[in-house]
Amino acid sequence: MKTKDFIELEEKYGAHNYHPLDVVVTKAEGVWVTDVEGKKYLDCLAAYSAVNQGHCHPKIMQAFTEQAGKVTLTSRAFRNDQLPLLYKDLHDLTGYDVALPMNSGAEAVETAVKAARKWGYKVKGIPENKAEIICAENNFHGRTVTIVSFSTEAQYKDGFGPMTPGFPIVKYGDIEDLKSKINSNTAAFLVEPIQGEAGIVVPPAGYLKEVEKICKENNVLFICDEIQSGLGRSGKLFAFEYEKVRPDMVIIGKALSGGFYPVSAVLSSKEILGVFKPGDHGSTFGGNPLAAAVARASLKVLGEEKLIERSFEMGNYFIEKSRTIKSKHLVEVRGKGLWIGFVLDTKARPYCEKLMDEGILCKETHDNVIRFAPPLVITKEEIDWAFERIEKVVKALD
Ligand SMILES: *Cc1c(COP(=O)(O)O)cnc(C)c1O
Repeated sequence: MKTKDFIELEEKYGAHNYHPLDVVVTKAEGVWVTDVEGKKYLDCLAAYSAVNQGHCHPKIMQAFTEQAGKVTLTSRAFRNDQLPLLYKDLHDLTGYDVALPMNSGAEAVETAVKAARKWGYKVKGIPENKAEIICAENNFHGRTVTIVSFSTEAQYKDGFGPMTPGFPIVKYGDIEDLKSKINSNTAAFLVEPIQGEAGIVVPPAGYLKEVEKICKENNVLFICDEIQSGLGRSGKLFAFEYEKVRPDMVIIGKALSGGFYPVSAVLSSKEILGVFKPGDHGSTFGGNPLAAAVARASLKVLGEEKLIERSFEMGNYFIEKSRTIKSKHLVEVRGKGLWIGFVLDTKARPYCEKLMDEGILCKETHDNVIRFAPPLVITKEEIDWAFERIEKVVKALD
């Protein structure tokens, strides 16, 4: 079968909720993916940062296959011998007391929302059904009905009502707006430390520090969604570290499994996650031994291969180089670590299609931003290789 045949099948029998680039990937290793025609591409999306460790990392694969041969799923009705070890690793790595494992990122966000609401009622003493969780404009936290209820993207909500109430919106990066929306019923502020889907938007310096202060003063939980920004993508373990803050809750996913398996988690204190009592919340697959083994191996690879430091260094190199490109449509190059947005004054999709022809896979975000987020194992030579092609495409479309 050829590219065209796979696409035909997919279009005929699949729901059309995506508009992928027309490349049909059949295998991948490290930063490189190969399509069914045998053409190789440098992956500059890394599955929205789920494969920070590189595709099919041999050490994660080993943990995956070994565990798959032993036991994959017990459900949380019984205990397993992998989950406790993951809990310990997460605690040692992040310093947070406890974790609650889920599968997809959206489920972990839902979990954080439920924890914050319950904390609001049981600990803060908010009157029943009055809890508010403030969210930021242009956020992306996933696709469930409750999560799209606090999206400000019209398309994400259109036709999916009625929406879940209780989520006031503030301008991202605007501390005065946050102050004005906090009241005695505010349980939490949920925010991405860098907005990925919005186009790699870095908030003004000092913003998160101020957020932390305002939240503390008002007994409001400060929740960071680090599903995409976390685990090395931004050049730090967590993007919030750039401002030396300590959120009350942190949500992780994506690279927690190195792309092998959906694994997500909420990290927090004993007091906050302690609001959940047996039976309050759960997931059949959440915390399963295969997920736990894969997550442990994925975290280990980040450390052993110094991928976080590498993201910081290579990211700076990539950003500085990119800022030398002279083009009339390239308005700004921004980002942190290996998470880089090219802001254009025109549609980004044609650039992504041209880059694909040149052997680079990336995806536009918010219409006019090209996002570059390669696996963190990328070498300087590979960045140079990519840069040559990126510069050529950007200039050709002038
Ligand atoms: C991808 C993403 C999510 C949702 O994760 P899924 O695994 O797709 O449900 C939530 N928040 C952020 C910041 C993300 O990038």
